Amino acid sequence: MTIRRKLTAAIADENIFENEPMAGHTSFKAGGCADLLVVPQSMEELKAVLQTLSGEDAEYVILGNGSNILVRDGGYRGIIVKIGDAFNHTKADGRELVCGAGTLMSVVSKAAVLAELSGLEFASGIPGTIGGAVFMNAGAYGGETSQILKEARLVSRDGREEFCMTAEELQMGYRHTLLHETGHIVTEVVLRLEEGREEEIREKIADFTGRRNSKQPVTYPSAGSFFKRPEGYFAGTLIQDAGLKGLTVGGAQVSELHAGFIINKGGATAADILQLMEIVQAEVLDKYGVKLEPEVRIIGESV
Ligand SMILES: Cc1cc2nc3c(=O)[nH]c(=O)nc-3n(C[C@H](O)[C@H](O)[C@H](O)COP(=O)(O)OP(=O)(O)OC[C@H]3O[C@@H](n4cnc5c(N)ncnc54)[C@H](O)[C@@H]3O)c2cc1C
Repeated sequence: MTIRRKLTAAIADENIFENEPMAGHTSFKAGGCADLLVVPQSMEELKAVLQTLSGEDAEYVILGNGSNILVRDGGYRGIIVKIGDAFNHTKADGRELVCGAGTLMSVVSKAAVLAELSGLEFASGIPGTIGGAVFMNAGAYGGETSQILKEARLVSRDGREEFCMTAEELQMGYRHTLLHETGHIVTEVVLRLEEGREEEIREKIADFTGRRNSKQPVTYPSAGSFFKRPEGYFAGTLIQDAGLKGLTVGGAQVSELHAGFIINKGGATAADILQLMEIVQAEVLDKYGVKLEPEVRIIGESV
């Protein structure tokens, strides 16, 4: 593949994976292969990869921890660029916490505890990277990434420019940011937190973790809440009231514990998950006149 040869000038061959099964890189543990997965090991490599891809006009998608993404079974005919371990670092500076975009929220959360910084507790159980959390404006228990983000450091989609944007400039709304339109890539994040006491921060996290573990199907692969919250409703309540809890297509099921989650009970294909999604959407539209939109990012081709 020509693009592969070109990419070897930007990144070591051992960090380029051909026909890579994306089930191993996504929390749904389902779906097809990416033509190529590349894992830059530094900012320079990331920029070189992006410049190569834009020079070739190649299709590409950024991947964080894969906890909000589903690849259809026919796979992704393009390149997945993973923001991984090379972008995993945290540093407290006064009330600010500087984190590489590939740092998992659980790790960011631990760093905040150790620095006695409060404000991030809501996010401690979100299983993605901080870069993914900025892109999605991830939130839980009344908190949202936008509330704690001072600025994101970004690189342009063509890899040629580096710049910063504040939460306001990123126009962070409910599970949406300007990045959905621009495609800029988050490389580092500066969080602005409050001084707190370690014990109180730990208690808050334990409370949220307890709530999450008892109310969400955390032992099954999923991508969290499958649908966005429709204005004035809760997706999970609508799905439950429509009598769809436990509804199953192949290996995919509407969770019995939390109807807002579609889970992989074992061996689910992306087609199972998407067929179940469509049934749920049709039933909820029919019964309540509410159109449920997926929060999960769906990419790739059907078989
Ligand atoms: C059990 C479970 C519970 C969850 N609970 C919550 C919750 O409480 N609240 C919530 O909001 N979400 C929740 N989620 C969904 C998910 O964890 C969040 O959306 C998370 O922020 C995604 O981060 P990620 O690194 O996994 O992103 P990915 O899934 O890898 O990517 C998601 C999107 O972000 C983009 N992206 C990722 N990294 C970057 C980057 N560095 N720069 C630019 N774009 C990037 C990708 O291109 C993709 O479009 C849950 C998921 C699971 C599995």
